[in-house]
Amino acid sequence: MGKYATMILEMINSSNEHLTAEQIYLRLKEQNEKIVLATVYNNLNALVQQQRIRRLPVEGGPDHYDRIVRHDHLICPQCGRITDVYLDDISQYLTDYVHKQVLSYELKISCLCEECQKKLTK
Ligand SMILES: [Zn+2]
Ligand SMILES: [Zn+2]
Repeated sequence: MGKYATMILEMINSSNEHLTAEQIYLRLKEQNEKIVLATVYNNLNALVQQQRIRRLPVEGGPDHYDRIVRHDHLICPQCGRITDVYLDDISQYLTDYVHKQVLSYELKISCLCEECQKKLTK
């Protein structure tokens, strides 16, 4: 793995912020790395392909990148905040249901985050 791929992988693995390519780019710049945004995208694509990270597309916004370890997401439809949730793995249940081996699945649960909930009830 190249230097940038290693740095990007480490950044994603040590964060639960669901960084976007732009945020990763800015952080690398802060560390005085001479890198262009296209290089960040290339490395992200390669890391996704190698299944070292996963891409998290969010409607109406840029893709986010996340750790590969199994977990699911709550996504706030108001502000787009992404929160990790650790639910049981339902691959076996899905496999039984579709009568085919389920390789992976993505669960995005839409619900208001606490802040947006508060604003609503004010
Ligand atoms: Zn929200
Ligand atoms: Zn996550």
